[in-house]
Amino acid sequence: MTGSATLTPDKLHSTLLSLLDSWPLAVVGLDLDEKIISWNRAAEQIFGWAAAETIGRPNSDFQQEPDPNTRRYLKRVLAGDPQVNKEVRLLTNRTQPIDVNWSATPLRDSTGKPVGALILMEDITTRKMLERAQIESERFSRAIVDALPQHLAIIDETGTIIAVNKAWRDFAFANSEQPEKLCEGTNYLDACNVTTGDGVQEAEAYAQGIRAVMNGTLIEFSLEYSCHSPDHQHWYNGRVTRFPGEGPLRIVITHDNITELKLAEKAIQQLAHYDTLTQLPNRMLLLDRLGQVLAKAKRERQRAAILFLDLDRFKLINDSLGHAAGDKLLKIVAERLNDCVRKSDTVARLGGDEFIIVLPSVPQTEDVTLIAQKVLHSLTRPVDLEGQEVFTSTSIGIAMYPADGRDVDSLIRCADMAMYRAKETGRNTYQFFSAEMNQQMMQRLVMENGLRHALERDELHLHYQEQTDLASGKITGIEVLLRWQHPELGLLAPADFLHLAEETGLIVPIGEWVLRMACTQNQAWQEAGLPPLRIAVNLSERQLNHYRLVDTITRILNETQLSPQWLELELTENLINNNIHDTVELLQKLKSLGVSLAIDDFGTGFSSLRNLKQLPIDRLKIDHSFLQDLGSSANSTAIIKTIIAMAHNLGTRVIAEGVETNQQRDFLQEHGCDEIQGYYFSRPVPRDEFCKLLKTI
Ligand code: C2E
Ligand code: CA
Ligand code: CA
Repeated sequence: MTGSATLTPDKLHSTLLSLLDSWPLAVVGLDLDEKIISWNRAAEQIFGWAAAETIGRPNSDFQQEPDPNTRRYLKRVLAGDPQVNKEVRLLTNRTQPIDVNWSATPLRDSTGKPVGALILMEDITTRKMLERAQIESERFSRAIVDALPQHLAIIDETGTIIAVNKAWRDFAFANSEQPEKLCEGTNYLDACNVTTGDGVQEAEAYAQGIRAVMNGTLIEFSLEYSCHSPDHQHWYNGRVTRFPGEGPLRIVITHDNITELKLAEKAIQQLAHYDTLTQLPNRMLLLDRLGQVLAKAKRERQRAAILFLDLDRFKLINDSLGHAAGDKLLKIVAERLNDCVRKSDTVARLGGDEFIIVLPSVPQTEDVTLIAQKVLHSLTRPVDLEGQEVFTSTSIGIAMYPADGRDVDSLIRCADMAMYRAKETGRNTYQFFSAEMNQQMMQRLVMENGLRHALERDELHLHYQEQTDLASGKITGIEVLLRWQHPELGLLAPADFLHLAEETGLIVPIGEWVLRMACTQNQAWQEAGLPPLRIAVNLSERQLNHYRLVDTITRILNETQLSPQWLELELTENLINNNIHDTVELLQKLKSLGVSLAIDDFGTGFSSLRNLKQLPIDRLKIDHSFLQDLGSSANSTAIIKTIIAMAHNLGTRVIAEGVETNQQRDFLQEHGCDEIQGYYFSRPVPRDEFCKLLKTI
């Protein structure tokens, strides 16, 4: 043997010890009494006690740990059990407990008898801290996801559900007969029809959307669908997106409950498209539907019909029984109209008392006639309004597609025109549109346009008719009557254009012109030395309701210098029946100007005598219809006599108009009528002619 070093047991021991000291794991040797026999450098570092402090002392002084298991493991190892390996938490000389990977193995003597244990401990505090932070963060995320009202599920690349949140689970258990099909572990692609309500189509579209997001053809996909439960309907918005970032493919599926939104949307739709009173489609929805009906009729070469309805005398009911009663009537009418038609037909309310019925397919004209008759019949049944039995009826105008028009506007216009004709022919009836109505409508338009310019083009003239005192045979008054010298249609009488002037409001400026002309003319005649005469001007209701009437008359009298006593205003009898309080006030104002007032066409209305008594009237004009019937109708004879007697009783004078014959004149004279007016003396004539006539007296 050369001088090569030999490894003595002592040397080996010290080598092993220095090896242990450089070992990164804490190594602690224990004897059978659990006294520490070795404590390496790593142990010093990890636990914070030096070897000098620990050797020879009980291990329990240093490896205090809250977990009693460690003690048990140690006991087993000391009893000779093979190696035990655990993660444990220990208290140390430091402030914080530490986590260690704890393993112990028995130490044996040469006979194999356990004489102690060797404990190896790796400090894993940092790793454990990270792990715990991770667990905490997951728990936190989970809590957030579970707190979401949205239903949320995550599926993997095969479609298998790997996680769902609480809302999703609750929904599945509350709404599905197989909730487990919607939870972790099942393939959602097979199960999505369980959530997507009624339509198989919806479920299929949904599955397709999910696949598209899975294979990347879509970044995201969403679908609204509804679910019916026995008591109510819910709407959901399903959204499918990819989980962002690297890692395995994850698809996030969320379902938002959008029921409230949908209900609000529905309410708005209802308000925008349906009439709130009758719940019928309103004008907007009607126009939309009618457009569709016409498009379909065109495609399928079918005929369609539009019925335009306007209730007869609705205003009267509304005014006399009040708005609540009017509303109730409209509701009842709406119900009855609906009962007259099929589901595929549309009944709409245009507004006011106007309704429209659309019949999308009418093979025969008779089919429309039948419906129109049915409607008329159903509306003639009396309606009970606040205990009052009310009878109503309607006028119907009918337009046909494609014969009368091809678009919505012109068809409604045609039906409207036909409805007017139905009203003219006596109400409670229906009328089909005809081309001749259109022509009349065009004429009306031309007339209306013409009338607007008639004044400035100097086409309006006055005719004059004398009023004669029966006792003296002298002219006492003149009535002015309006004429329109139309450039194409010739001389027009008021009957041809007055209603147009009334409807358009043109009667106000025209009426003012008549007043000014009449006063100017009368003043001119007086200035020319002719005997002064009263000049009578007709006022229409619209003029009387005009707020500036009194001002206008005052101004005209001033301008023309005519003394007011020579101006008479003829007012219609209707006036007496309107708001009597306002009428009395207005007539008193007029009267205070110094003019006289006459009631025209007396006897044709139903004036209350009590009302008549309150009015400051100078003259009653017996309507000429009674004169015409004189002799043939005992009634008319009696009426004329009564009016004369009554007028005298009230202290007003009475004049009969439309007197044409000797016989009429004699009758009136015999019964004390004061004045007469009519062809018997003279027709209404132009100014120059009337002037000649004046000069003869
Ligand atoms: P009214 O006020 O009752 O006028 C009398 C109408 O009877 C006039 O018709 C006159 O021409 C006609 N007449 C006069 N004598 C006889 C007769 O012996 N036999 C028959 N059959 N008819 C006779 P006109 O001029 O066509 O006027 C019709 C209506 O138009 C007038 O009825 C009046 O209500 C209205 N009107 C006329 N001019 C004006 C006006 O300037 N302003 C307003 N607001 N209305 C007017
Ligand atoms: Ca008159
Ligand atoms: Ca009259």
